[in-house]
Amino acid sequence: MIERSSPYCPQCGAPTEPRERFGRTRPVCTVCDTTVFFDPKVAVAVFVTRQCGADQELLMIKRLNDPGKGKWSIPAGFVDPDEDPRDAAERETLEETGVRVRIAHLIDVLHRPDPDGLADIVLVYAAEWLGGECKGDDDAEEAGWFLRSALPEIALTSTRMLVARWIEKT
Ligand SMILES: [Zn+2]
Repeated sequence: MIERSSPYCPQCGAPTEPRERFGRTRPVCTVCDTTVFFDPKVAVAVFVTRQCGADQELLMIKRLNDPGKGKWSIPAGFVDPDEDPRDAAERETLEETGVRVRIAHLIDVLHRPDPDGLADIVLVYAAEWLGGECKGDDDAEEAGWFLRSALPEIALTSTRMLVARWIEKT
């Protein structure tokens, strides 16, 4: 199902109605017959770890907004249309934590991992810590490194899943 509503045609402003088009039901203009397509909203999430003695620690942010307000997740944000998602991942991490990172590799591509989240597609990157002060900024109330053995309460389904995989693997 394409569940987003599209009451008006972007070409002529007339109402649309659901019709069969290109293999599924899509909004179609009742006057000029234009089919309305929705682009998925793309986000990046960044998994930054570093060695800390015998343990490893993860860079996390305390969320200022719902979903998961007051709990912790990893740096994340939306990708601008003209932006390489890897650049977006580095930018969001710097904005939210003050930490400079370099993207290492793609961990996963998730489809709507968080029931209350706004992202349709989430690109999850692993990143290397390059330096920089760690401070809460932008959307994050606080940011910090957490030992694998002492993680805070996690906000999002996607972060919980990624952390569980990380713990299993390391
Ligand atoms: Zn139209």
